[in-house]
This record gives sequence, structure tokens and C-alpha cells, in this order.
Amino acid sequence: MCGIVGILGTKDAAQLASLGLFALQHRGQESAGIVAADGEQLRLRVGMGLASEIFDAETLKGLSGTAAAGHVRYATTGASHLKNAQPLTFNHLHGPIAIAHNGNLTNAGQLKELLEARGAIFQSSTDSEVIVHLIARSKGPVEDAIIHSLRQVIGAYSLIFLTPDKLIAARDPFGFRPLVLGKLGRAWVVASETTALNLMGARTIREIEPGEILILEKGAQPKSLRPFAERKAAKCVFEQVYFARPDSTVFGRSVMGSRRELGRQLAREMPGAKADMVIPVPDSGVPAALGFSEQSGIPFELGFVRSHYVGRTFIQPAQGLRDASVALKLSPVRELLKGKRIVLVDDSIVRGTTSRKICRMLRRVGVKEIHMAISSPPIVSPCYYGIDTPREEELIASANSPEEIRKFLGVDSLHYLSVDGLIKAAGAGATGYCTACFTRKYPTPIPDFK
Ligand code: AMP
Repeated sequence: MCGIVGILGTKDAAQLASLGLFALQHRGQESAGIVAADGEQLRLRVGMGLASEIFDAETLKGLSGTAAAGHVRYATTGASHLKNAQPLTFNHLHGPIAIAHNGNLTNAGQLKELLEARGAIFQSSTDSEVIVHLIARSKGPVEDAIIHSLRQVIGAYSLIFLTPDKLIAARDPFGFRPLVLGKLGRAWVVASETTALNLMGARTIREIEPGEILILEKGAQPKSLRPFAERKAAKCVFEQVYFARPDSTVFGRSVMGSRRELGRQLAREMPGAKADMVIPVPDSGVPAALGFSEQSGIPFELGFVRSHYVGRTFIQPAQGLRDASVALKLSPVRELLKGKRIVLVDDSIVRGTTSRKICRMLRRVGVKEIHMAISSPPIVSPCYYGIDTPREEELIASANSPEEIRKFLGVDSLHYLSVDGLIKAAGAGATGYCTACFTRKYPTPIPDFK
């Protein structure tokens, strides 16, 4: 997954972009990059690791300019490698251009084969580079080339392009990934989530709409184009469930509000649940556990203390690392939990391996009954639009029934939220959601994955 940010019209552009990336760090921790534009040229710095490690004062000094675009990356396509770090920059017929992409294309492999057969040389293994090659082959001003390029790709993209004097934001017609527009004094700001705008001190104006291309230029009003056929929106519901930060407003909805409501809905779907306390798996289960407790009347307690000095367990690609870090990260409060019946709330189960370890830890400290309550439906199918869900074989719910999963986890009961309950709680009507990971209903063709 990735996070993107762009700013145009202020002298501290790269510095502000680094703040934006800091706020978007949860969207990807493998690499970070910023490109700055000074009206004539683009300057790029990318590195592996966290934005705060890469962008010290010295590095930012080298990124002078009044516009900037930034990216944090977690590899969903292409290896975890500096060559794949974004923004990617290129020189072509229309001059220098940089691209920062959040989302996954579903026909990039096909297009890449075609392009390579015609002599294209790819520098990275990202799907994003395909967009750039298509731009390079398109005629006319850069806006037209971008439109022409995007008409050929299928899948999820929230994009920021930077040229020496323009910042162009684009969102695919389904609106899979979020992208918002804000204003900071006279500068325009674009970011994946409102929390980035907040940290930068910018005011949120609106979402960039699905299918919209927005051209921002110094001294001009933003120009909004809608060059694609209209589609039924398919915004990623997993952003509400897990991915986005709870202090963001995503797809026009407070993520905290959505998650709390998911928890309430889950409690409604578990009438008569009996337990001494509701315990969240920190941090991802906290808002839903609060909602569950409110709705059920079962007291909310903090049964785990989380260490803040280890990163997210799941997001580190190597399996070995992931195994060791569960106990490093979460420590159960023995005195509170011993002999108790608990509802354990988390947002989702992917492979089931983390949840199983957590439940074992709870048994070891003497928890009497564990009723596991998940504030989303079983994840049965991979995401091809940018969330790093693994291959179908690795998804525990793709081939196992809830009863089999219950046994694997070693819990007394296991409850998932229904798909209808999810849609209701996440705000049906307000927006159309993609639920493919829960329903196998993909809103677009997925030629690369067939
Ligand atoms: P597991 O029991 O191994 O399936 O892990 C479940 C945990 O992974 C839950 O706490 C989720 O919050 C978390 N999770 C779900 N999806 C992702 C993701 N794409 N990246 C990182 N963590 C995730």
C-alpha cells in the first residue's frame, strides 16, 4: 500500500511534503521519496525506510522549490527495492515529470509486455511505471498525454504528477483509493488522507472525485477534468475497516466513526453475548471494541499493553520477523484477565497466525473464555487494488469455515461481521464500496491475475 502527498505554491514545499509523509507513514514503511519542482527542474530524493529517517534537515535543503510530491511505499507489486521507491521521475517529450501512485493496476503486466515488445525499457518492476511509458508515447500537452495513458490502464490509482510548473492529481473512475484536496494559505495541497492535511496545517476542501483529473498551477484556479466514462463508485471498504488512520475523514466519513459503528453493528449481530469485559487487540481493534461495548453494555477494558517501539507486525514482509514480533508488541495484563470471560475484538483476520498467537497468550495468563469478534467479514479473496492481502491460499478464510478457524485459533466462539452489516455500518448510500476481498466480486476485470 502507499500514501501520497502533493503541494504547490509555497516556498517550503518539500518540508511540508515531508510532514505529510510523516502523517501517512502507516500507509507504507518500506521506502519514502520526495520530488521538488522549482519552475525549471525536478529534484528527487528517495530512500529505504521511514520518512523521518530519510528526510533530515540537510536532505530537505537539497529539495528547493515551490512545489513537491511525496510517496511512502509498502510493496504490493514489485520487490522491496530502492529502484521501486517512488516518486519515479522521467524525462520525455513533454519535459521532466514525476509520478506518485497509490493503488494497483490489474492490467499492468499485459501492457508492459506490449510496451516491451515495442522496445520500451523498464527501470523498475512497479506497475506505476507503465503509466509513465504510456504518457511518453502520447502526443499533445502533458494533460492530454496523462488522459490518454490512464484510458489504457485498468484498476486502482490515486495519482500525483509533478512537472516543473504543474501538479496534477488523478483518481480512477471507481475511486478505490482515497485522495483529498486542501488549501494552505495560497498553496494547494493533495493527500491520501485528511490527517496529512491537518499536520501540514492545511484546510480540507473536498475529495478529488472518482474519475477526476485536477490540474493545479501557480496563479490559476484549479482545472477539473472528467475524461472517463462514469462508473459506479467502488471505494475500498477496507480503508474504513483497517487501513486508513482513525483520525482521518475518508470518502467523506470519519474513520473513527465508521469503526465504532462497525463494533456496534457487530454487537447487534451477537445478541445475548455474555462476558465480563470487551478487550480490543491494540491498536486496530480499539474503535470497534468501544462501539461493541457501548452497544452491548459489556465493560471496555484495556487487556493488552502495546509496545510502541516495534513496528506493525504484519507489514514486515519476512515471515520470521513477523513471528517474533507479536509477543514483543503486545503484553497481556495478567491481573485483569485471569479467570475472566472476554470478548476479544479485532478488525480483521488475514492469515490467522497473529490472532492465534494472541489467543494463546491470553490462555497462558488464565483467561477463562475467549469470544473472538471481528469487525469485518471473512477475507476470502485477495485484493488486486493495492491492499497487501496475500495470495488466496494464505488467506485462512478462503478455504476454512468459521468453525475450522475457531478451532485453529483455540477460542470458545468466533463471530464475524456480516457483509450487509459492514456496508450498513460503513455508510451505505453515502458511497459505493468495493467489497471484493469479502465477496469475490471484483468491480473491474483483473487480466493480470486470471
Ligand atoms: P492474522 O491473525 O495473522 O490474520 O492478523 C490479523 C491482524 O492483521 C489484524 O490485527 C489486522 O488488523 C491486521 N491486518 C489486516 N490487514 C492487514 C494489512 N493489509 N496489513 C497489515 N496488517 C493487517
